[in-house]
Amino acid sequence: LPRDLYQPRRNSRGVEFGDRAALAKLQAEVATARQPITAAALIDGVGLGAAPRAVFSPIDRSSFVGSVREASAEQAQAAVAAAARAFASWSNTPAERRAACLEHAAELLEQRRGQFIALLQLEGGKMLDDALAELREAVDFCRYYAQHGRALMAEPALLPGPTGESNRLQLRGRGVFIAISPWNFPLAIFLGQITAALMAGNTVVAKPAEQTPLIAFAAVRLLHEAGVPPSALQFTPGNGVIGAALVAHPAVAGVAFTGSTTVARTINRVLAAKDGPIVPLIAETGGINAMLVDATALPEQVADDVVSSAFRSAGQRCSALRLLLLQHEVADRMIEIIIGAARELRIGDPRDVAVQIGPVIDDDAARQLRAHVTRMQHEARLLYAGDPPGPNYVAPHLIELDRIGQLTCEVFGPILHVVRYDARDIDKVLRAIAASGYGLTLGLQSRVDATVEDAIARLPVGNVYVNRNMIGAVVGAQPFGGSGLSGTGPKAGGPHYLPRFATEQTISINT
Ligand code: GLU
Repeated sequence: LPRDLYQPRRNSRGVEFGDRAALAKLQAEVATARQPITAAALIDGVGLGAAPRAVFSPIDRSSFVGSVREASAEQAQAAVAAAARAFASWSNTPAERRAACLEHAAELLEQRRGQFIALLQLEGGKMLDDALAELREAVDFCRYYAQHGRALMAEPALLPGPTGESNRLQLRGRGVFIAISPWNFPLAIFLGQITAALMAGNTVVAKPAEQTPLIAFAAVRLLHEAGVPPSALQFTPGNGVIGAALVAHPAVAGVAFTGSTTVARTINRVLAAKDGPIVPLIAETGGINAMLVDATALPEQVADDVVSSAFRSAGQRCSALRLLLLQHEVADRMIEIIIGAARELRIGDPRDVAVQIGPVIDDDAARQLRAHVTRMQHEARLLYAGDPPGPNYVAPHLIELDRIGQLTCEVFGPILHVVRYDARDIDKVLRAIAASGYGLTLGLQSRVDATVEDAIARLPVGNVYVNRNMIGAVVGAQPFGGSGLSGTGPKAGGPHYLPRFATEQTISINT
């Protein structure tokens, strides 16, 4: 790979929330940008779709955010066909031009940060700092993939060969990529998938999560404005039926999916059962992410890192901490500090900057999380339950289990499970973590290098965080993605991501 893929680069700028003037400016931009959005399916840039469906905010389910005209299954198929027609032209557009479109999109996103942050808050239920971080991640994805596209795709790589022979290797787009994204990063993951696929020379049909079609529509419009031809980026909002119609289409050349392991498996089965080309799936799914805390860890730091990793963003990140493993000697003290810190958390309307935990995404999510807590009250010990300020909110919970294996699936909310362990059993502990089959994030809190190195060597997880929190991977610095039940391995925001969206062609010429 060209060396400049690893070179330092500058990510987008943050806002210092301690600087009152800067914070007030940002808040004013967000407040003036709050306007209802009318979204529709877009085929070759033309708005289509069913009768408008109203989208309400997770902050307050009576608050109207906008409306969406969702695609029908036939329209989804028409969108794939339209993207297939556009492939030759887009894939032959010079990589430099494709990169310039993404860079223009990054600029537009920064200029319109108020609008996108307002939508992240209202439609996605995000706190201001999370929304800003997500906007920045989206901007960084655009610039990062543009830079990598230039390095990897503008010119073929010259390879060695005997005298009289020239060898070149070039990356090319595959065809139509289907991009199916989740509601928990409705801007960053949505745009990350699309921009990588476009940069690699593919045309794209994007299906956002059913819960967050409005910000996705605004992002697609912005990419069109930035120069991506509407035929190269089609938009089909809708539910799982639409996802299924897209994936089943014979013209599909690749699928990028972020969401649950169950849906990833279904997509994989559909792809495998189709006649025609063998279609790759790039999947990022969930995790039962553990943090191992031994007796050498610093208690205050652990408490801080646990609270942010488990409860921030209401635990609605696939990187979030689900299973806290505490060495016996320090367990009581750690639990006491963590509960003390959890009690201090402010839960409520995320537009209030003093609030630290916002709502969960919808009623289904709240119901499932409450059902999990009820079940666990019988099977385990509830150590702490915070007070939710309303039906859309799930407060932090701490639940003590007897064994690691008691937690068998990802619980996507602010519910942390704790297991105590004996230092002599560390082997068993590592084996039990690996036995879940997931491999997304891992936290290690220890000052003993051998413990840290041993755990890293033995656990096949995508992202390891040592003596720090385990969320908020930064583009270019912490390429993100897992293996096993957590995904097919590609790392978003990493130097090896773009080639996963491309095919390679070797050209050998007898000169
Ligand atoms: N990249 C995010 C993080 O590091 C998580 C992405 C996800 O939840 O899908 O926290």
